[in-house]
Amino acid sequence: MVQLDRSTLMVVFAVMTLTMLVLFYFDTYRKSRAPFAGWWCVAVGSFFCAAVFYFLGEVSGVVWAPSVGNGVMVLGSGCVWAGVRSLAGRRVRPVLLALPAAAACTVGFAVHTSGDTRIGSIVLLAMMGTAIGLASLELWRERASSWHLVRSLAVATAVCAAYYLSRMAGLALLGPQDALFQLLFGTGVTLLMAMVLLVVVSSSITALNTARRTEDLTELASRDALTGLLNRREFTQRAQQRLRNNLDAGVDTAIVMADLDSFKAINDGFGHDAGDGVIRAFSDACRSAMRTADLVARYGGEEFAMLLTGVDADEAVRIADRINAVLAEHSSLPDGAPPATASFGIVDTRNRSGGLQRLIREADEALYEAKAAGRNRAVVGRALAEAAGHAVPLAP
Ligand code: GH3
Ligand code: MG
Ligand code: MG
Repeated sequence: MVQLDRSTLMVVFAVMTLTMLVLFYFDTYRKSRAPFAGWWCVAVGSFFCAAVFYFLGEVSGVVWAPSVGNGVMVLGSGCVWAGVRSLAGRRVRPVLLALPAAAACTVGFAVHTSGDTRIGSIVLLAMMGTAIGLASLELWRERASSWHLVRSLAVATAVCAAYYLSRMAGLALLGPQDALFQLLFGTGVTLLMAMVLLVVVSSSITALNTARRTEDLTELASRDALTGLLNRREFTQRAQQRLRNNLDAGVDTAIVMADLDSFKAINDGFGHDAGDGVIRAFSDACRSAMRTADLVARYGGEEFAMLLTGVDADEAVRIADRINAVLAEHSSLPDGAPPATASFGIVDTRNRSGGLQRLIREADEALYEAKAAGRNRAVVGRALAEAAGHAVPLAP
């Protein structure tokens, strides 16, 4: 077997971490600026610095270098933990990163001067194993999307933590010169293990980053920018599915089309920004009056579509009433301006056949009737069994 001396291995490790840092920084972090990618950059950077310090200690005999290397290694491991916590939006207090690093450095230096570096290594491994083990636990608990990537990261970090803690136990029980210790935990094996882990974690984080960005873009593509409501395309897709499920389960469904009243006059009278404010107020009013399982979309400029599950037309009229009441309170038009209102066209799936597009068309017709009847009201659209729709004036 090829034998590489410790200093050669450290140079290999340093070159590898630096290459990985540069690639990861430009390819992953710069594109996303995601906190967990940032923490991973700091972690890899720390491992690189640690390799340089160890090399200095090994080759040039710089006395303080290995203990500083220990401190920086612990700092890097802490950054792995902090990065994992940032995945779930949790923070790590800087003192929890700085204190163990300073402690590892101090212990390393103290035992170095006493000639026995074993205690320093045991402390180093215990701290690294703990930090990476905590990262693994956090990853295991993470219930975010991209589940399989998070789980594979959890396994990789768990293997790494177990290795460091086993190395610590081996060092304490067998000692550094023991043949079995050298076989399992010698410098070569340890650095090889660290390199494999760095590659696995870096590629997993890159994949995770890509998955998150794709999710973000998908979410962005399905939402309206002004209100955050679903856009028309996304509403149509989801509503078709929801309607099918509701019909299969025999659950009533109401479709509501809404349009803000005399909105052009609001824009003309108070400006486009005030108009935007009313559109936002209407979307907030919808959110507050509907259940989370319901769907609501900005269907066009000042036109909205809703799908209400487990609701018939009469109940939908009451919901429309609530929406207009909240809108009147929160439309933030200047004092003295008449309150903003909307008109609604409503149909439900009782006594009615046809798919979503037909229901929307019929709700739209009812909406026109509401406008023609004087606005600020809901009209329940004609069902197959009925002769004509009936208009329900909303509370002023
Ligand atoms: P009606 O009661 O019959 O619905 O009258 P209306 O004035 O609301 O209807 P009309 O279709 O004449 O005007 C709609 C206006 O909505 C015209 C358009 O400039 C405005 N609009 C559409 N999208 C936006 C938007 O995003 N922001 C703002 N401020 N105005 C918008
Ligand atoms: Mg309008
Ligand atoms: Mg309109």
